[in-house]
Amino acid sequence: MDGQPSHIDQIKQNNIGVVYRLIDQYGPISRIKLSKKAQLAPASITKIVRELVDAHLVMETEFLDLGFRGRPATGLKLDSASWHFLCVSISLGKLMLGLRNLSGKLIVEDVLPLPANNHKSFLDSIIDEIDSFFSRHQSSLERLTAISITINAIVDSTEGFIHSSPYYQIQDLPISEYLHRRTGLPVFLQHEITAWMVAESLYGAAKNCQNIIQIAIDENIGAGVIIAGQTLHSGNRSVMEIGHIQVESNGELCHCGNLGCLETVASTNYILSRTKQRLTSAPDSLLNCEPLTIESLCQAANKGDILAIDIIRNIGVKIGHIIAIMVNLFNPEKILIGSPLNACQQILYPIIDECIRQQSLPAYSKQVMLVATKFNNSGTLSAVASVKKALYDGSLLINLMKG
Ligand SMILES: [Zn+2]
Repeated sequence: MDGQPSHIDQIKQNNIGVVYRLIDQYGPISRIKLSKKAQLAPASITKIVRELVDAHLVMETEFLDLGFRGRPATGLKLDSASWHFLCVSISLGKLMLGLRNLSGKLIVEDVLPLPANNHKSFLDSIIDEIDSFFSRHQSSLERLTAISITINAIVDSTEGFIHSSPYYQIQDLPISEYLHRRTGLPVFLQHEITAWMVAESLYGAAKNCQNIIQIAIDENIGAGVIIAGQTLHSGNRSVMEIGHIQVESNGELCHCGNLGCLETVASTNYILSRTKQRLTSAPDSLLNCEPLTIESLCQAANKGDILAIDIIRNIGVKIGHIIAIMVNLFNPEKILIGSPLNACQQILYPIIDECIRQQSLPAYSKQVMLVATKFNNSGTLSAVASVKKALYDGSLLINLMKG
């Protein structure tokens, strides 16, 4: 037996996390089924469940157990309603604050402007907005457990640093430590694409998958990778800058300073400006009839519009080329695409699929599935992922049980 308390504490934490996750995924669930699924002895389950019930994190409920002659049985489910956490989603010029309960259910969400050239500092602006958010929604607030921040910037999620955000002119800002000191709460920080991918892997389109690539295509293009259940780059500087891989050697100047990056040919802003140029020589296109948006472009492609289909096919070829390289590097089970372009996935996906089949190793490409993300990148939903992860690994639960 290992005599080191820290090791035993770690095992205890892991087991509590596993039990909590199984109750979340399968509840209401009986203690016997829980014991089988968790591969823990009934006595251990009884002890862990008692602790979770005492801490008001899990509750007993009567349910119809079909395997037990249809009689009501006593099962366990999460007791999430009286625990809240704050989601903070920071994007270019915009701050979203959301209050959610521990199951992830949204209680209230506010969308606020967060201008870059504010007279206040970035941190002061965020603190002031959080303070007024809590005063506005005081009556809805239950016990606060954590703060989860997502941002489109280079972050170190382990140390809680925003390394670099050119838009907000931030360099090496220890935002997690600052908010922790002010509130006493655990603070999670994650890049928004990584957080979104973790959400998809925990309860979205890639649930139960161990090897995932997620590509996000909107105004920016980014990617995340999960290998053997672990987020690649989960520590510092946690996003793959696939948007800045050169795809055209003499292409347009990118905002990063290089030429012909993927973002200069496949980001939504580029797609719209390129479509506008090409519309001048396509008088018959359906796109002449309505305001040009990604939505109207996808709709026109779905209706068979030749110009719209050609534009979507070109994007597919460029994105597909990069994805094919990533398939060779990471051998994923699933590739998730998160994008407003999913509205015309029946046109886009076969092109990407073809690139994968033709340009990556057959042994890898024949296994891989290309699917749309379950969630879109709006609101504060991605911020739920860091909290779920900390509940499932037991670390946040231990914190809450200590009171
Ligand atoms: Zn670039």
